[in-house]
Amino acid sequence: MKAAVFHKPGTITCDNVDDPRLQKDDDVILKVTATAICGSDLHMYSGGIPQPRPMVMGHEFMGVVEEVGKGVTRLQKGDRVVVPFPVACGSCFFCRNELPTACEHSNPENYGPEGGLLTEKGGALFGYTDLYGGYDGGQAQYVRVPYANNGPRIVPENLTDEQVLFLTDIFPTGYTGIMWGEVKPGQSVAIFGAGPVGIMTAKSAILENAGQVIVIDTLQYRLDKVQQLTGCEIVKWENASQAVAEIREKTFGRGADVCIDAVGFEPERNLIDRAKSVINFEKGSSKVLEACLSAVRRGGIVPVLGVYPMHYDNFPVGQIFDKGIILKAGQAPVHKIIDKLFDFVKDGKVKLDDVITHRLSLQDVAKGYEIFDKKEDGCVKVVLDPWM
Ligand code: NAD
Ligand code: ZN
Ligand code: ZN
Repeated sequence: MKAAVFHKPGTITCDNVDDPRLQKDDDVILKVTATAICGSDLHMYSGGIPQPRPMVMGHEFMGVVEEVGKGVTRLQKGDRVVVPFPVACGSCFFCRNELPTACEHSNPENYGPEGGLLTEKGGALFGYTDLYGGYDGGQAQYVRVPYANNGPRIVPENLTDEQVLFLTDIFPTGYTGIMWGEVKPGQSVAIFGAGPVGIMTAKSAILENAGQVIVIDTLQYRLDKVQQLTGCEIVKWENASQAVAEIREKTFGRGADVCIDAVGFEPERNLIDRAKSVINFEKGSSKVLEACLSAVRRGGIVPVLGVYPMHYDNFPVGQIFDKGIILKAGQAPVHKIIDKLFDFVKDGKVKLDDVITHRLSLQDVAKGYEIFDKKEDGCVKVVLDPWM
């Protein structure tokens, strides 16, 4: 089959690889009909999150069930499904506590055979490094989906692939920011980042009746896009203190009730050792998170959706303490909220496919990564067709 294979930072190509096979009783093999490139994939592409061996990329995908293991009770061949990005068993301690990204069974490197943490790392994700379980991803013609009784959700016939594809990740992730921010009707929400995740966060804020939604980005074309799609206020980031000052000005000088980081760490790219696929962890920047802590009001909440793989000196614990800020970070618990979010889509309360700017063949995956990474050609979200 054809698949997008990570070789080294900067090199992801469409290769011929072996078809995936059923390995466990509750696996299915999915014929992928649509898949997308995520901002998280860019962390592998840039070398910020290292991966030592080739692997099939992709954690945002959907498709039609091609083969079912004999323990699969909830799916049949021919079902069209959308798949949450965390690989999660559904039965361990963490899965039962609605924390699928900490699943004790999906990432045996990190937990003992009976559960119990062996390392500080958590569960597994599709197509996202050996650290996250080493599972091949769905930027491919076929993918093996483990724990198929837990993850995949059946899609009704009247919805197209593009209408539901982002239930895999970016819509639940954006909604997680609003959920963790405990956003109440009328409250002000400042969202750093007008990428796909930031846009979905703005849509989610509106669904939950936020009174004021402010989106901050460095790129004018992305600000224009999020404003056109959601009607939010926008702030162009020139530097941290200017962005924070503009947010304060828009929120009675107090700061926003909730400030969401939908950007994440920024590796200083010239410090990445591409050959070794590592970066100098001391030199990444957490300036967006620091801006969130400054722009949030006292007693406010800062949900962190953007990825931070490293630690930083000068962590502003004094400011967090003084302002009484609640900080909440991590991968989105997709399984916990996907059914509720699916209902929003089915009821026509939210539109997801309007973030797509580029539709490419899987064969052109290298180009897709390049324009999404460099933010060229008005790119916001790339969807790949494995069969085009
Ligand atoms: P993206 O790269 O398309 O978007 C990031 C946006 O941040 C860009 O528009 C960029 O211009 C903007 N930006 C850069 N510096 C900025 C600054 N100083 N101030 C304001 N904006 C700035 O990526 P995306 O797909 O939208 O993902 C965003 C982040 O969310 C990534 O870190 C990704 O890994 C993470 N993510 C997390 C989860 C999760 O479960 N927590 C899920 C998906 C993605
Ligand atoms: Zn993602
Ligand atoms: Zn589990």
